[in-house]
Amino acid sequence: MHTQKKSCILATKNQGKIREFKELFSDMGIDFLSLNDVEAPPEIVEDGESFFENAFKKAKTISEHFGVMAISDDSGLEVDALGGRPGIYSARFAGEGASDEENYLKLLQELEGVEDEKRTARFRCVMVVYRPDGKWIKAEGSLEGVITREPRGTKGFGYDPVFLVPTLGKTLAEIPMEEKNKISHRARALHALRESIEEIL
Ligand code: IMP
Repeated sequence: MHTQKKSCILATKNQGKIREFKELFSDMGIDFLSLNDVEAPPEIVEDGESFFENAFKKAKTISEHFGVMAISDDSGLEVDALGGRPGIYSARFAGEGASDEENYLKLLQELEGVEDEKRTARFRCVMVVYRPDGKWIKAEGSLEGVITREPRGTKGFGYDPVFLVPTLGKTLAEIPMEEKNKISHRARALHALRESIEEIL
C-alpha cells in the first residue's frame, strides 16, 4: 500500500534547526521542507509582543501562502532583574544588526552591580504548527540559568557564553553541542511538540 507522506514547511533557513527537526521527527512520516527549498517565501515582520505571537504569525503566514502545514519557532532570553528583557528583542538587544558579543556585553553591563542571587534567567522557546484549514497547536520549552559576570567558553552562539547552567556549573558555551541539544529550551519544546503533533497530522 502506498502511504502518502505529509508535507510540512519549517519556517526557518537555519540549518541547525532544520537538522534537529528532521532527526527528532524522522519516524513520523513527514516530508520536511524549509524556507531554503521554496520559491520566494513571503517577507515576515516579527512585530508580535510575545514569543508566541511571533511564532504564530510566521507559521500562519507560511502555511496560508503555500497551502501546506507549517512549523515555526521563536526564542530568546528572559532576565528576571531586567523585568524579562531582552525577551523578544534578544537578537537585537544592542541594536539592529548587533553581533552576539555586543548583545551579551550589553547584558553584562546592564547587570553590573546586580548580586548573584538576582541574576536568574531563562531561555524560552515557543513552537507553533499551523494547518491551512486554520487548526493549530503550540508547544513550549525553557531552560533555567544564571547570568555570569564574565563570558566563559567558545561554543554555541548568542548568549551562551554568559548563561550558566547551575546543575552543570558550566555555561552553555562550555559544553559540547550534543549535550546542549539535549537540555536546551529548543530541545524541550521539540519534545513537547512530539507529544502533541499527532493531533494535527
Ligand atoms: P531565534 O528565535 O532563533 O530568532 O533566536 C532569537 C535570539 O535569541 C537569538 O538571536 C539569540 O540572541 C537568542 N537565543 C535563542 N536561542 C539561544 C540559544 O540557544 N543560545 C543563546 N542564545 C539564544
